[in-house]
Amino acid sequence: MKRIFLLGALGLVLAVGVAAPAAAAQKTITCVYCGGTGEVMCAYCQGEGKVACNYCRGTGAVTCNVCGGTARLRCEECLGKGYIYRDGTKEECPKCKGAGSYLCSFCNEGKMPCEMCNGTGKIKCVICGGYGKVQCAVCKGTGQVKVK
Ligand SMILES: [Zn+2]
Ligand SMILES: [Zn+2]
Ligand SMILES: [Zn+2]
Ligand SMILES: [Zn+2]
Ligand SMILES: [Zn+2]
Repeated sequence: MKRIFLLGALGLVLAVGVAAPAAAAQKTITCVYCGGTGEVMCAYCQGEGKVACNYCRGTGAVTCNVCGGTARLRCEECLGKGYIYRDGTKEECPKCKGAGSYLCSFCNEGKMPCEMCNGTGKIKCVICGGYGKVQCAVCKGTGQVKVK
């Protein structure tokens, strides 16, 4: 009976002995996802650090809110008619020279530079803060991953 007990104890020691080296064999290797840098390209901006401005749809220009994009403003002097009456006589409007409207001075051909992106059409990527790279999710930025 005593001998059987001893064998049982030995078996337990062996079982623990086998499990221990297996845990020690767990090592770290370079993260293949980021190549060990701990950073990966920002998918949101494709690594550019900038994304197209939503406000102007990446064009850098928005419709002029003064003339509504027509690039011309109705002459308030003649109310767009191009002529005025002075002492009952029809005269060419001196302000618009008979055109009834004049070029909008607030914009360039009905377009104004987008204020959101300063006319560049691009804004800083909010995901990576303009850096173009984000922390590798696989290795959590360490560049190393544990393997079994
Ligand atoms: Zn990684
Ligand atoms: Zn814009
Ligand atoms: Zn305008
Ligand atoms: Zn006029
Ligand atoms: Zn980004």
